[in-house]
Amino acid sequence: MDDREKDYIDAAAEEQSGKIEKKTEQKEPEEKYEKVCYMCRRPESKAGPMITMPGNICLCRDCMQKAFDSIGSSGMDFSKIQNMPYMNLNMNDFFKNVPENAEIPQKQKIKKRSQKAAALTMKDIPAPHVIKAKLDEYVIGQEQAKKVMSVAVYNHYKRALVDWKRDAQEDGVIIEKSNILMIGPTGSGKTYLVKTLARLLDVPLAIADATSLTEAGYIGDDIESVVSKLLAAAGNDVERAEKGIIFIDEIDKIAKKKETNTRDVSGESVQQELLKLLEGSIVEVPVGSNQKNAMTPTATVNTDNILFICGGAFPDLENIIKERLTKKSTMGFNSSLKDSLDQETDLFQYVTNDDLRAFGMIPEFLGRLPVTVTLKPLDKDMLVRILKEPKNAIIKQYEKLLAMDEVKLVFEEDALTWIAEEAIQRKTGARALRAILEEFMLDIMYEIPKDPDIGSVVITRPYLEKTGGPLIQMRGM
Ligand code: ADP
Repeated sequence: MDDREKDYIDAAAEEQSGKIEKKTEQKEPEEKYEKVCYMCRRPESKAGPMITMPGNICLCRDCMQKAFDSIGSSGMDFSKIQNMPYMNLNMNDFFKNVPENAEIPQKQKIKKRSQKAAALTMKDIPAPHVIKAKLDEYVIGQEQAKKVMSVAVYNHYKRALVDWKRDAQEDGVIIEKSNILMIGPTGSGKTYLVKTLARLLDVPLAIADATSLTEAGYIGDDIESVVSKLLAAAGNDVERAEKGIIFIDEIDKIAKKKETNTRDVSGESVQQELLKLLEGSIVEVPVGSNQKNAMTPTATVNTDNILFICGGAFPDLENIIKERLTKKSTMGFNSSLKDSLDQETDLFQYVTNDDLRAFGMIPEFLGRLPVTVTLKPLDKDMLVRILKEPKNAIIKQYEKLLAMDEVKLVFEEDALTWIAEEAIQRKTGARALRAILEEFMLDIMYEIPKDPDIGSVVITRPYLEKTGGPLIQMRGM
């Protein structure tokens, strides 16, 4: 569940509690309002009994505890602070009303060292050909991308696990970070490739969306929030997080805005602020939250050995590439190239840093992403293979579900081709496959369990084209 979904559920829960509140309002008109925590804004019905302080400021127990923790951890003697609202509060009174077995909220634990991260050695990192072979089991096609990624990841972990800084003092060889820029159309498997890679290597992964990032101080997520996410994915284990992967999706959305008079807080500035993070720096990040504030505990994370992968669909980049290649061809009297370029479906393979600069990425940013990986648009054959070949292929999932009812599910080859053709029409890459299948499988999954005598179902092309039905065979026939 991502943060937005959580926020949505929280909001729904708050709305729910609001409704309950309204109901009690009708019964007991005198209890019109309930106290709301000054810090977290949760009402008393949700956050439990409140402490009221001078000036009618209310604090819930959680926030009160956090306040004490943060003051305590920074070594301040709060009893000496003048005008602190809770200066005279006796903590024994405060906890008097708490039931004996109630769980008193603890400060989030930041684990400093973990056995697993400490034990990560070169032996744990498979050689590039092994990484690629593992990726082959899940990711169809994209051969070059898988190869480049395997090598980049292998080199990255070599750098991370060996004390190259010490060696550099002797031989002067500095190994630079091999952060990756991934370019490929929507639904071509960018996120999927990174997720699979992180799972195979057993390293924590954070997926962030560049569109939600803004320059510090503006509405939106601070740049450091991506590191917070990684820390959360690593179970607040700093050392494990420091060897993790951060995938920043939709990176093309932070291209420099053209012809703008206002301050570009979500474009060029975000690229500027990401520079330090990509290069390797020490950042202080909030634990368990996206936003820094006085009440959240923080942890110090070094991003030097974190692998950053930035991905995007880069619409219009193809036109920039085509334009450059055509210009070159007319100068070189090779205008037939122009026609072949119009036919070319995978123009991304010719991308250069100049094209990306023309798109709006700043040179310093590109300089920190030395490895470029391009993904091909998925054609019909690849889509058919994606339907049936990966270890967790969608068709295998449906087969397994029906096998639990002891029903054999078969897809005719023609039917698979129809699904791939339909997915190409929808222009969302492999993402469309599941959506299409779900539309057609709904009736099958609903009807088949009704009749225990059904032994097998064959999905035919006419069924998908709505000119016929599936072939159903009874048991023992
Ligand atoms: P994007 O490139 O937009 O990040 P995703 O990685 O989210 O696309 O792809 C969407 C889904 O499509 C994935 O969850 C995966 O199931 C499937 N998919 C895409 N490309 C491939 C591929 N090459 N091999 C296997 N499955 C793929």
